[in-house]
Amino acid sequence: MTSETLTLPYLNPDLAVPARVADLLERMTLEEKVGQMLQLDARDDLDDHVLRRMVGSILHTSPERIVAARELTLQTRLQIPLLVGEDCIHGHSFWPGATIYPTQLGMAASWDPSLLEKAARATAVEVAATGIHWTFSPVLCIARDLRWGRVNETFGEDPFLLGELASAMVRGYQGEGLEDPTAILATAKHFAGYSETQGGRDASEADISRRKLRSWFLPPFERVAREGCRSFMLGYQSMDGVPITLNDWLLSDVLRGEWGYTGTLITDWDNVGRMVWEQHVQPDITHAAAAAVKAGNDMIMTTPAFFEGALDAVAQGLLASDAFDAAVERILTLKFELGLFENPRTPVDGLEQIVGTAEHAELNLEVARRSLVLLENDGSLPVSPTATTRVAVVGPLADDAQEQLGDWAGGSGQAGWLDGQPREMITTVLDGLREIAPWEVVHARGADILTLEPDPAGATWPDGQPRPPVVKPCAPDAAQIAEAVAAAEAADVCVAVVGDAQGLYGEGRSTATLELIGGQNALLDALVGTGTPVVVVLMASKPLVLPASVSRAAAVLWVANPGMQGGRAIAELLTGAIEPTGRLPISFARHAGQQPTYYNQIRGQHGDRYADLTQAPAWAFGEGRSYTTVSYSDLALEEEALAASATIVADVTVTNTGDRPTIETVQVYVRDNVTSVSWTDKELKAYRQVALAPGESTRVRIELPVADCTIVDAAGDRVVEAGEFALLVGPSSRDDQLLSAEFTVT
Ligand code: BGC
Repeated sequence: MTSETLTLPYLNPDLAVPARVADLLERMTLEEKVGQMLQLDARDDLDDHVLRRMVGSILHTSPERIVAARELTLQTRLQIPLLVGEDCIHGHSFWPGATIYPTQLGMAASWDPSLLEKAARATAVEVAATGIHWTFSPVLCIARDLRWGRVNETFGEDPFLLGELASAMVRGYQGEGLEDPTAILATAKHFAGYSETQGGRDASEADISRRKLRSWFLPPFERVAREGCRSFMLGYQSMDGVPITLNDWLLSDVLRGEWGYTGTLITDWDNVGRMVWEQHVQPDITHAAAAAVKAGNDMIMTTPAFFEGALDAVAQGLLASDAFDAAVERILTLKFELGLFENPRTPVDGLEQIVGTAEHAELNLEVARRSLVLLENDGSLPVSPTATTRVAVVGPLADDAQEQLGDWAGGSGQAGWLDGQPREMITTVLDGLREIAPWEVVHARGADILTLEPDPAGATWPDGQPRPPVVKPCAPDAAQIAEAVAAAEAADVCVAVVGDAQGLYGEGRSTATLELIGGQNALLDALVGTGTPVVVVLMASKPLVLPASVSRAAAVLWVANPGMQGGRAIAELLTGAIEPTGRLPISFARHAGQQPTYYNQIRGQHGDRYADLTQAPAWAFGEGRSYTTVSYSDLALEEEALAASATIVADVTVTNTGDRPTIETVQVYVRDNVTSVSWTDKELKAYRQVALAPGESTRVRIELPVADCTIVDAAGDRVVEAGEFALLVGPSSRDDQLLSAEFTVT
């Protein structure tokens, strides 16, 4: 840099950010401004991205390319640093040797915001050190239809729980403030309504009203917007015919207007191009680019032709030449806030002391322990291993290290530069059970799940992106099953690790069914038939439907995709070294045809069952067993008639009636008995996690502002309506497990 450039105001760190932004903006050409709005895929032609299109940001950057991109930036006229983004959604997903935690859905089963905040903080420390400034996490979509391929990325089905956990992760990522070199930008995504699919199909038009958005989809986004989450990513879908990229009401009136959001808005992958080639709502890229700019988008993800389209829109008079200024200002503001002009935050020296450390592995183990949900137990668990105990460990997922990590991780295919995380960093269930005690462990695979075949419709979509392959379930294999059965017959206990696998989840990979596929059901049927107690470990990205034979299994444990330490945590739980404390953040169906199964549905349908099946879920939101028993009694309200400005104060006695310690998740739901418009029968409004020693009893205080007991009325306003309510307190969302206390809002 010459002495002349050093004196330029935008390079002066002593000036306030707005002054630096204004100075830099004034120096930028139209082309530089349009380029600044682009985020392009670093796996493509980096030189072209940085030198010709002058991009503001890149994503999916292999370790080597981060450095190469920085060097290219130094060849540009204004040397504006790049924002480097990545999907680090349960750890630093695509960095070789990084810590990979349970999936977001797995972590949600801990119901513990402080733990998720720690995981996000530790992730930020790893991510920031590697030269990446921005994570596209957390996902704030509410899981609605279990067939959707992205359920694993969510915090589950409840907006309140989601808000608590999302807020914690945003705090963890952004740390003490963006100027801290270990802080990374968090992204609230996908704004908003993307998960309201039709039939679970990814990115289908969402049939969703503004009132419905305000009722359940927007509150978590509002919370993190107001709390300072610095970036929001849009969804893919249209609502009421309008692609989210152009939803002026949502982007301008609600997000930037009502909520006062000042951060950056990024589109999802090629949203601008998709309006032309996929949704057919714009005639060409020129019009699509113009519309996206007018709607207030700041950063355009992976639509390279936005560059030419936007310039053409100016040439044709569709956009004024200053139309880009507001977006560019917001992007530059972030870059100045991150201090990138002074420190471009490229990879630091000594990464091995920061990434994938023993300390992070310890935290990861704690997260995994807390995310396991024991769904059934006939008393066979915990198992006490002795030198003569024999355990048969079977199933296709018992020893598959990469599958255990799930989507958005080393081997999940989204990044081309690695095909997995180091095997030695991952403890599978087989590893964990072998290491936990000097007992006899026998292993048999028992079944295969699937093979992947090219989509007959072609290798790529019109935009050149690869089409996901098509899943072919494997047929049950008699020899494999016989080997597993023999192992189970000779064992004291059989641990069967079954579930789903890559190909059955992810973007564009929704499933029509929810059953275990391949040879897995036949394997379970045969194992249960041996008479040896069978512990089913369901390693599944999302709730799946288990075969009828599992009702005769000894225990069922859902572990999501439990991350690198999953196998150790599971072994600890099965042998009683830790207590099962996870609770379902999402309901499990008995049959795919029951969709949707979320607990907070609208009242008023005829009856409550199908002619041929109950509507009740197999396991409901909030459920999860302990090794002990816990009773709830004496729910008492301090006041039963309350003004809208008052706080509900109640106490409930929670007693550990068994002989093992536990952490009990005391759940508080509110039922508004009569509402002016239809509403859900109950909603989670608060919860408390209390540690209880064997025999210990404690009085748990619940304080809930009446102002939280809202509905959204017909006009779309969130209001508390006077009348009768019930405060419901207990261990899950199931009515028969909840104590009830009536109160009146005057
Ligand atoms: C996904 C986003 C992700 C982005 C970048 C999109 O296809 O929907 O969640 O952040 O790709 O990888």
